[in-house]
Amino acid sequence: MTRPSPFRAELEELSGAGLLRTVRALAPAGGRLVRDRDRELVNLCSNDYLGLANDPRLAAALAGSDAGAGAARLLTGTRPEHVALEADLAAWSGQEAALLFNTGYCANVGVLQALLRPGDAVFSDQLDHASIIDGCRLSRAEVRVYRHGDLDHLAELLAADGPRRRRVLVTESLFGMDGDLALLAALRELADRHDALLMVDEAHALGVLGPSGRGVAADLGVPVDVLVGTLGKAFGCFGAFAAGSADLVALLVNRARTFVFTTAPPPALARTARVALAIAAAAEGDARRTRLAGLCGMLRSGLAALGIPGAASPSQIFPLQVGEPLAALEVADRMRDRGLLVQAIRPPTVPAGTARLRVSLSAAHEPADVERLLGAASDLRSHFRGTR
Ligand SMILES: *Cc1c(COP(=O)(O)O)cnc(C)c1O
Repeated sequence: MTRPSPFRAELEELSGAGLLRTVRALAPAGGRLVRDRDRELVNLCSNDYLGLANDPRLAAALAGSDAGAGAARLLTGTRPEHVALEADLAAWSGQEAALLFNTGYCANVGVLQALLRPGDAVFSDQLDHASIIDGCRLSRAEVRVYRHGDLDHLAELLAADGPRRRRVLVTESLFGMDGDLALLAALRELADRHDALLMVDEAHALGVLGPSGRGVAADLGVPVDVLVGTLGKAFGCFGAFAAGSADLVALLVNRARTFVFTTAPPPALARTARVALAIAAAAEGDARRTRLAGLCGMLRSGLAALGIPGAASPSQIFPLQVGEPLAALEVADRMRDRGLLVQAIRPPTVPAGTARLRVSLSAAHEPADVERLLGAASDLRSHFRGTR
């Protein structure tokens, strides 16, 4: 007799609410297509914004170094590849120093936990990434969440705060599920006025926005105390980093538990990320960014002509709001019928009632892909919320 699964009821609850997720293996077929069993689909929901993930130069670099570092960085795991990548990242981002983390998730959790302790306070945008939320919680500091992009609300919360050893203001620069930008200049001003550090997660912006792809803060000339970036999105690799002053990095080396207590990233990956960064920072990166901006402009004006509100996005990320999870799954299925892969994004990734199709464009796409998406969006337009 088999024992009843203690997990079944919970899974069925998720399934009934349209919130069950499953993993599905897809075979990449070049930068813009994926093979899903017997079907070829245009991938319109990857974060490979520059189309580098399948680049043969990266694959060659990956084959050129050791797979395993064998230990944590502070034991015997640090290799010349790590140090060289950190120097490249610091130089490129205009910061004094940079420190690798195994993922962006680990970077946010590690930085927030390292900088904050009980009695400190952290101020976080309501739509900040789950890794920022978890870092805030793990730090055991007081967490104050302000309404998305509402700086009056943030100013109120800051004004009501008493004396602290440390205050941190943390935000994404380009919000990953909404595609909108944080008001970094105003956030910097608020941080200065209230003696807070400004930590900016540029996961979706680095490689894509700003001069040489250096991100939103660099574009606006806004100094940040902590910059977080991932190597898994526009750079087409894996891994992440935090950058800032040499003292910040020295403190993270000592205090960030997701750095100290984990095996160093594969040296081969560090070497590969250097190749990706070199491409992204050079003229080739500029050409890819120009191409991507052109595709985004095309989608933006096409959506605007259809009266679909996702058009308002200033970036490569276009949230097509549907509302309820089951409805979003249905629209995603209809897109798939038309050869387009656009995953439904549902709670808890986005707030309840805001399930959506999140379209993200890449320099790997063709104008014909955007045309095809616009055709599908036109057919399905009655499903998108706020459509005029
Ligand atoms: C993707 C993402 C992360 C996590 O980065 P990984 O390297 O994928 O772990 C962190 N912050 C934001 C805003 C992200 O979008």
